[in-house]
Order: sequence, then structure tokens, then C-alpha cells
Amino acid sequence: MAKKAPRRRPGRPENATQVDRVHVHELRAQCPRCHSTKRTPYRHVTTIHHGGTIDDRPYTHVEKKRAQCADCGQHLMVSVYLFEPAEDQLGLDEEPAN
Ligand SMILES: [Zn+2]
Repeated sequence: MAKKAPRRRPGRPENATQVDRVHVHELRAQCPRCHSTKRTPYRHVTTIHHGGTIDDRPYTHVEKKRAQCADCGQHLMVSVYLFEPAEDQLGLDEEPAN
């Protein structure tokens, strides 16, 4: 007869650290034609050091990427807005083009 594994008690293990987690959402880029979020791998990725706000959210960089919808074949230009803390910008060697 096989040995029984020790029974685990439900819930958080004793001595586990309590972490305050905040719920955040990430919306995948979506095809405007068929609404699919499936796509081919990104190509021609470029990063622009340009800051601003979009939907009241600040950003410091914009990634521009090309892909194709995996379901209907629509060609896509995807812009991803990133916010990176100021200390990460110390190594910037180029100014934003105005
Ligand atoms: Zn599509």
C-alpha cells in the first residue's frame, strides 16, 4: 500500500509573510477588425523616449511594434506606453526629437 502524502491544511501557511497586493489590469493589444488578441510575434520594434499622459496615466517611453492579427490577418501597428522611474533614465544618450 502506497504511503499517504502529509495532508496540507487549507489557507495561507503559518509563518508566511502577509503581502499587500494591489489588483492591476493589463489590456492586450486588440485587432480592431475581429477583436482578437492573438497576433504574430512583434517585428520592427522601436522605442521613442517621449513622455506624456494617456487616459490620465503618465508614460515616459513609447514602444512602436508591428504585427499581424493571427485570426484575420489585419496588419497592426501597436504602441505600448511605458512608465519607467527617473533613475532608470540616467543612462539616456539621446534627447527626444522635437
Ligand atoms: Zn483580426
